[in-house]
Amino acid sequence: MARPDRKSLRAALPGIVRILRRFSPQIRQQKNLLVVSFVALIAEIFLHLLEPWPLKFIFDYILLPGFKTQPLGIPFLDELSPFALLTTLTLGLVAIAALRATAAYFSVVGMSLAATNILTEIRADLYSHLQRLSLSFHHKAKSGDLITRVTSDIDRLREVTVMAVMPLLAHSLTLVGMIAVMFWLHWELALIAIAVFPLFIFSTMRLTKRIRQVVRQQRQREGAMAATAAESIGAIKIVQALSLQDMLENTFFSHNRQSLKDSAKAQRLAAGLERMVELLVGVSIALVLWRGVQLVLRQSLTPGDLLVFVNYLRIAFKPMRQLAKYTGQIAKATASGERVLDVLDIVPDIRDARGAIEAPPLKGTVQFKNVSFAYEQNKSILKDLSFVVYSGQHVALVGPSGGGKSTLVSLLLRLYDPLEGKILIDAHDIREYKLHSLRQQISVVLQDSILFAASVKDNIAYGCLQASDQEIEQAARLANAHNFIMALPQGYDTILGERGATLSGGQRQRIAIARAAVRQAPIVILDEPTTGLDQENEHAVNEALERLTKGRTTFLISHNLKPVVQADLILYIEGGKILEKGTHIELIRLGGRYAAMYALQSTEGNGLMAMR
Ligand code: ADP
Repeated sequence: MARPDRKSLRAALPGIVRILRRFSPQIRQQKNLLVVSFVALIAEIFLHLLEPWPLKFIFDYILLPGFKTQPLGIPFLDELSPFALLTTLTLGLVAIAALRATAAYFSVVGMSLAATNILTEIRADLYSHLQRLSLSFHHKAKSGDLITRVTSDIDRLREVTVMAVMPLLAHSLTLVGMIAVMFWLHWELALIAIAVFPLFIFSTMRLTKRIRQVVRQQRQREGAMAATAAESIGAIKIVQALSLQDMLENTFFSHNRQSLKDSAKAQRLAAGLERMVELLVGVSIALVLWRGVQLVLRQSLTPGDLLVFVNYLRIAFKPMRQLAKYTGQIAKATASGERVLDVLDIVPDIRDARGAIEAPPLKGTVQFKNVSFAYEQNKSILKDLSFVVYSGQHVALVGPSGGGKSTLVSLLLRLYDPLEGKILIDAHDIREYKLHSLRQQISVVLQDSILFAASVKDNIAYGCLQASDQEIEQAARLANAHNFIMALPQGYDTILGERGATLSGGQRQRIAIARAAVRQAPIVILDEPTTGLDQENEHAVNEALERLTKGRTTFLISHNLKPVVQADLILYIEGGKILEKGTHIELIRLGGRYAAMYALQSTEGNGLMAMR
């Protein structure tokens, strides 16, 4: 997703405003905590401003009383002996430090807690949102990139709010307070003190801009690296089979190396900026001393006041050295926040229509009425399909690859919505029903069934989360899976490797059938469920499928015509159109493409038989 190049914190402002506005409900939930932390922050700043004052009094009233221009004005202090005054002021110093530490503690802890709470909520929202986005979104998006958004982008937002936004806020307010106090003490010296500020701002802006550019590049590279890693690890079998490791490693390594270079460059620039600021602090303090001492000698300023000035300059400039780091981090976090928002703002194209209702228990009469569909504009995939399958009937979809069979059944599952026409179940448009209540009544078995890295029992239960152990076992028996499951080390509690790698293809398929069976859905979709299985497994799976589909409306996609022959309806689909429609006998009689396909498979089959 293209992001505008953020050149400065100011340019990042619209992003920050967008983020704050979008997340305001989550932020509002933490209102109390935020208010308390902010009050603590203001107290901390006030105490910070107060810090050099006891020292000023010690200088002006005890060490150098000759310079004393006016009494303290606090009757109680004016009456004290120098020793008692010293004790009071030093105790005051400790009290200020202690109070400031307490206030700082509450402001930091409060804000971190609030930030963590807010971002935990946002992460949960983002995760649920991603799960709900349509397949067309997920097909186009890179999973590695999405994972970075859920994990590191959110982490970065949290870290930066705690480590950069809060300190920056505190330091800016402190700076404003200090400048005000300096002007109050002596406006001329205050002007001299802040004379180097424009220089400071100019050099910071120039350098931070460069730092940000480097950092942004680095971030994009990290995204690309995560995508490469996720892609190659997700498809490791193919990668190894095609010996693509070297090629992918090279890409990864070059990104990695470049990222390191960028990081070093950013660090170099930041270090340069820090030294620059140190130099400016020196210049500023020198100027203040040069003019300040003259003023003191002329008795228009006390030595204590000068001390306050120098102290303030030191305090004010210290965080400024890190300003570049802070603004850089905030700009980075803004980019992260916007990456999160970009995803959150995508409205799922497949969602519950307004007024959608829970689907009642369906009987399973499915009708396609002039359905057309395209994944991309102007690339029509399904063209004006119409047919009816009555409750409990079996329909077989056959035809060459790429004809649109899988697309047709994904429309029934509402993984996509038709562009034109409608799909009815029991005479109601499926868009009238809430998505989850529709999908709950459809079972699916695919060619390459995905098993999760969980126990066998859980993998079956994913078909119906409320299923009891007994129902799970029943489903497994129906799926011809019970016996081999019992032979596994921990039976139903055995944890499967990722993608079910510890089971054979046929076994995985039978677990998938058990998962479909436990659902007890009136509609079943089988997409090439026996492709790639050996004969023995195929037999066991077919037997399981027969039991699974008995009495249920079934959509079977199959290249193998053996199970197709008994279907109540066969649709021969090619180029997104139903070219032939009827029972096996009817289509054979028709003598068209289906008949030709059947004849070809029979002779191939006979040929194979003969070879054996
Ligand atoms: P079949 O199941 O008959 O082999 P499909 O329904 O899988 O056919 O595919 C029909 C056409 O749609 C093919 O040309 C395929 O390339 C295209 N297609 C499938 N899935 C997508 C997708 N997610 N995005 C874009 N095109 C797709």
